[in-house]
Amino acid sequence: MPLPHPSTLRFLFFSPSKLPFFPSLYSPKSHSLFTVLASSPPKRRRSTTAPPSLNFKRTNSSSFRETKGKENSVPMEETEGTSFGFNKKRAEGRDKTDLPKKNLQLKVRKLNPVNTISYVQILGTGMDTQDTSPSVLLFFDKQRFIFNAGEGLQRFCTEHKIKLSKIDHIFLSRVCSETAGGLPGLLLTLAGIGDVGMSVNVWGPSDLKYLVDAMKSFIPNAAMVHTRSFGPTVHSDADAVDELSKCRDPIVLVDDEVVKISAILVHPRPNGGLGLFDEDDMGHSQEQRRNHNSEARSSTTNTSSTIKPGDMSVVYVCELPEIKGKFDPSKAAALGLKPGPKYRELQLGNSVMSDRQKIMVHPSDVLGPSVPGPVVLLVDCPTESHLSELMSLESLRPYYEDFSSDQTEIGKVVTCVIHLSPASILGNPNYQKWAKRFGSAQHIMAGHDRKNVAIPILRASAKIAARLNHLCPQLFPAPGFWSHQQLTMPGSDSCALTEIEVSNHYKSTLAENLLKFTLRPYAQLGLDRSNIPSQESLPEIISALHSEIPEIVDAVEHVGQLWRGSAETDERTPVEENNAMVEEPWLNENKVPSCLENIRRDDLEIVLLGTGSSQPSKYRNVSSIYINLFSKGSMLLDCGEGTLGQLKRRYGVEGADAAVRSLRCIWISHIHADHHTGLARILALRRDLLREVPHEPVLVIGPRQLKRYLNAYQRLEDLDMQFLDCKDTTEASLEAFQNVASEIDYSPSESPISSTNENSTLIDGAIRRKTEASLFVKGSRMQSYWKGPSSPVDISTAVPLLKRLNEVLNEAGLEALISFPVVHCPQAYGVVLKAAERVNLDGKGIPGWKIVYSGDTRPCPKLMEASRGATLLIHEATFEDSLVDEAMAKNHSTTSEAIDIGNSVGAYRIILTHFSQRYPKIPVLDEKHMHKTCIAFDLMSVNVADLSVLPKVLPYLTLLFRDEMMVDESDDVVTLES
Ligand SMILES: [Zn+2]
Ligand SMILES: [Zn+2]
Repeated sequence: MPLPHPSTLRFLFFSPSKLPFFPSLYSPKSHSLFTVLASSPPKRRRSTTAPPSLNFKRTNSSSFRETKGKENSVPMEETEGTSFGFNKKRAEGRDKTDLPKKNLQLKVRKLNPVNTISYVQILGTGMDTQDTSPSVLLFFDKQRFIFNAGEGLQRFCTEHKIKLSKIDHIFLSRVCSETAGGLPGLLLTLAGIGDVGMSVNVWGPSDLKYLVDAMKSFIPNAAMVHTRSFGPTVHSDADAVDELSKCRDPIVLVDDEVVKISAILVHPRPNGGLGLFDEDDMGHSQEQRRNHNSEARSSTTNTSSTIKPGDMSVVYVCELPEIKGKFDPSKAAALGLKPGPKYRELQLGNSVMSDRQKIMVHPSDVLGPSVPGPVVLLVDCPTESHLSELMSLESLRPYYEDFSSDQTEIGKVVTCVIHLSPASILGNPNYQKWAKRFGSAQHIMAGHDRKNVAIPILRASAKIAARLNHLCPQLFPAPGFWSHQQLTMPGSDSCALTEIEVSNHYKSTLAENLLKFTLRPYAQLGLDRSNIPSQESLPEIISALHSEIPEIVDAVEHVGQLWRGSAETDERTPVEENNAMVEEPWLNENKVPSCLENIRRDDLEIVLLGTGSSQPSKYRNVSSIYINLFSKGSMLLDCGEGTLGQLKRRYGVEGADAAVRSLRCIWISHIHADHHTGLARILALRRDLLREVPHEPVLVIGPRQLKRYLNAYQRLEDLDMQFLDCKDTTEASLEAFQNVASEIDYSPSESPISSTNENSTLIDGAIRRKTEASLFVKGSRMQSYWKGPSSPVDISTAVPLLKRLNEVLNEAGLEALISFPVVHCPQAYGVVLKAAERVNLDGKGIPGWKIVYSGDTRPCPKLMEASRGATLLIHEATFEDSLVDEAMAKNHSTTSEAIDIGNSVGAYRIILTHFSQRYPKIPVLDEKHMHKTCIAFDLMSVNVADLSVLPKVLPYLTLLFRDEMMVDESDDVVTLES
């Protein structure tokens, strides 16, 4: 018997705009069935486009029951002026201090020297989007090794059921965002698994220490105690190369009964660049050119005989022990041995005395010929400067087929070589000549290749994207995949050529996702394609959808009508029309605000790149919002791991490059890893894309802790950015700066770029004195702002950066970017973006739209104040209503709280996002008064001109998931935030 939900009852009695907040109403104990949606039916419906009726099942939340007891004991505070409880300790960052320090242990494995199964396997992360380096898994019964951990590795492993907890070692072939972007998230996930957490050995060249140092800004030390760097530390002095030359012997990292793994360092050779090869550079793809560009950079850098951090690359050599020959009992008997312990001794390789004859019996007398253990090489040769060094490495000589043995060394037969090198290097004749020296080895080309672009690696989310696109192409434009245009784009020819050339030279195959090369059992040595997922074509996906949900055919039609309807409405002035329809209290809020009058489609598009919380999951990536201002550039609000990959899924491989090039500013809400670990990758790509183009460093606005991370990270890789503290972009601060700016006659020749240069002081002493004299008089608002104990603001840094922000906003057609503090963790912010006023056709000024993004937060007064009258409020809704206790303990919001905020501040539209990964595809919703609200899905692209239609699409979107509103109870769901 369905009972009305308490909040629905409330809804009957209160006008939403005057609604007081009663969190106690959302009792976690009220397990009533969700009421059927009271969606606002438009008064003048144009056709029979009745939204399908929704019947939301409440799913069991049993796994949270045991935690509830604990959470309830957390002392709650109320935010000033409202009754929203929150976890004060957490908000102030004191929630961890009283916890016992975790000492994360490495797993102790009982090794199995007689491994029955062993293989190497391509984990194809980034093979489709080309945003990151694929990883390689080396598998043994009791040990797992992974080479490289680019962004999305965790998400990939979740989808393919590769247990991260079973991984013992991660090796990096280089230390940069491309190969290690997924490492922070991985370490945090591992640290959070189970009650004790676990750790993993992370190996990389000496540059790894820079990355580890940077990650300390947001990852507990305990999670990183097993990070180990090897090889000489690279200084920027001229001796570096000499020092490196001395260190050319393989460095043994792991040597046990199962495998020996050693590292051979490859540094770019000074002057070993372009001049060395006579290769024709014409006709190469953009990617290849990019590689050449970075190569050119390396060679210029190296003319001064210095090697920068991040330049070092590693060849990993994995050697399995030899397989002993079979014991032959008849031979043993012939030599006078009785069956017994001596048989075993011989099998272990020891000689024994014959029982019946006066002779020593040696293992070779009774054992068949042993088979040498397989040898696998992983080669990452990023540039031609590395290639010349690679080709001359002495330590690789024993592995070449033409190796002529001297007394000290024995030649080894390489079984398999996995190439992570880019296509431009693979196609290099010298590289091919070098690869040929491994004789009969099987070569697997795992560097980026266009062949893989059309095959989505994360199939589950690609499938959902395809379904959403089928239902509502207006909000879900066709992703880069599924369209085979990519394959016929210029550039693909040269890669096809590479494949042919390569195969003429030696035994090679292009890597595919989950391609295996079996090492044990010996009888199966070789390639194994049986795990490569079969491709599901777009028509197959859609026809499956039709048979699963037959109503979808009508829904597609109705969604189309919504858009056709909205186009008609736009032609007649919507404001007046809607005024006439007011009947129920919320309908006047449905009035199209004047800022959207005749708005152009190329004004603004909001792309929800990642809509999940905590950690990347199968269906939802972590937080990121792309603000596309078309010709006026673009911005990112938050930038979780995998943001670049998501951009590539949305805009295609080339389109995403354009999107990254157009970035004017990146705003980060707070230091939790699900909001910023994709930043380094985006910034590194932007740096490469704009290398030859005059440009300004991009402005990163973020919480204080992020600055430390980025500064530390930049010792590894230049990120070509300027940092501005969110704190300096609050309203109070901006006001204060306004005054400063008008007080100081600021010379425009003083470029803000140089503020990153320590030697240049932008604001000289005179200006500073003037500022302090005029503005920081005792007791003034400015003084209390600047000199307050919690605001150690360096005005000489902040003022030029704010000037820069102003320029950025002007270029972007924005009037303001204002951060406001929220209740979540220390230094957590939300943000307001306000468009500049525009002039309509009759010369009338029209106010700009206002978008508010909440970041992660409890409902709080600052957020409400900032959101007043917003055109669009993008609000986190981590938890369903029944988990309000959980929301309070973790300082997040529930669905209803987010909607209530939007309603009470008169926001025109609300988009809910940042859903707990407990809800794998769609959050549990109570669709009461969702008449102005829509929920976000990954890659949802909302054009500002479509805001009016947005809530009406929701019932159709949920139709796609009507059978799937289950809660993911899997134990892998742990949080990056704790
Ligand atoms: Zn978050
Ligand atoms: Zn957070």
